[in-house]
Amino acid sequence: MKPVICACVVSRPSPEGDVDLSYILNHLGEDRERYFGAVVPPIMQSSIFAFPTVEAMRAGFADEYGGHLYTRGNNPTVAILRKKVAALEGAEDCLMFGSGAAAMAAGVIACLAAGDHVVCVAKPYSWTRALLRDLLARLGVRTSFIDGTHEDNFATAIEDRTRLIVLESPNSMTFEQQDLASVAQLARARGIRTICDNSYATPLNQSPIALGIDLVVHSATKYLNGHSDVVAGALCGSEELLRAVFKGPYMTLGAILAPHDAWLMLRGLRTLTIRLRQIATTTAEVLAFLQGHPLVRKVYSPHADGNPQLALTQAQLRGASGLITIELDVDEVAAVERFCNALQRFLMTVSWGGYESLAMPVCAVFPRTTPMSGAATPSLRLVRLSIGLEEPDVLIADLEQALRKI
Ligand SMILES: *Cc1c(COP(=O)(O)O)cnc(C)c1O
Repeated sequence: MKPVICACVVSRPSPEGDVDLSYILNHLGEDRERYFGAVVPPIMQSSIFAFPTVEAMRAGFADEYGGHLYTRGNNPTVAILRKKVAALEGAEDCLMFGSGAAAMAAGVIACLAAGDHVVCVAKPYSWTRALLRDLLARLGVRTSFIDGTHEDNFATAIEDRTRLIVLESPNSMTFEQQDLASVAQLARARGIRTICDNSYATPLNQSPIALGIDLVVHSATKYLNGHSDVVAGALCGSEELLRAVFKGPYMTLGAILAPHDAWLMLRGLRTLTIRLRQIATTTAEVLAFLQGHPLVRKVYSPHADGNPQLALTQAQLRGASGLITIELDVDEVAAVERFCNALQRFLMTVSWGGYESLAMPVCAVFPRTTPMSGAATPSLRLVRLSIGLEEPDVLIADLEQALRKI
């Protein structure tokens, strides 16, 4: 059966009515009269901004968040991007970072002190896990990793010192989801902050802030930029919270997005809606092909037949993105390797969300000698596909010939 995937990403519903995405992507934050009517904004490649008087400079120091003093704080080209990403997320404001990992680290660190406790989903992005399990554990923050697919597990895991719940819905390998509205409600009632990695869904397909989540993180490296040429991150939330992040980890750690990278991202964003619409359509076709293939034991996607969270997918996601993970029906790693090595149109590497289709074999993360019968077994058969902008027939033909090589 062909999965039903909504590909309508022209507007995003909000409490005030549908948001006009093309206005955000084409015009919001751009002040063309101030730069000679140039249609494309300039790259403000300047580390510092000068003042005419001491009084003006004093005002610049007093409100670095709102003004322009030094590019580690604010930069006008980056500021255009901040406005657009905040509007896409339905957030009051956004801070841009030099990577998604930096955005997550800054958001998490701003909420915590030594002795605090965090509840995090069981399988977050690997560097989110490393942040909590390794770096923050060393600084006296404890984390409980829980199965977030069952709401009750959050209430059970909360302790007196729990200050933050870290979510990622869906995650980017096996796509487990959390019921964001109910976790947000539980957390708010107890004065606990929530942060959600929304990279898979993008602001077009899921709005955690509208569901009560405090902070939203994006690896903007993925769909937001979409061209595999920039590493960037975004952190969205209320101005009050982001001012605290700005004064704290943002300015202290200094993991900023450079003006030129911000400019490239503005260019990438122009086509966000059409890229995601095309990707959703192609992904539905590839998913239908893979679900029927005898050498594919299981297909992971929020929209896959048999996903136990299909009802949550329908309720919480407005459409599909282009990630599909397949578990091959094979008994040796060499067979997974034959499949991946035979792919012609899918490039084999990490990351996802670009214009080009990618394949990521999990077995490449493990040593060649890892036994198929050991603890890593199910994941050794997994290959994650990121669907790009190629024609569906091209991708399906490539998968078909590679599966034959197994
Ligand atoms: C890639 C990724 C990140 C990290 O983003 P970078 O831009 O690579 O630092 C965070 N979360 C998810 C789900 C990701 O896929």
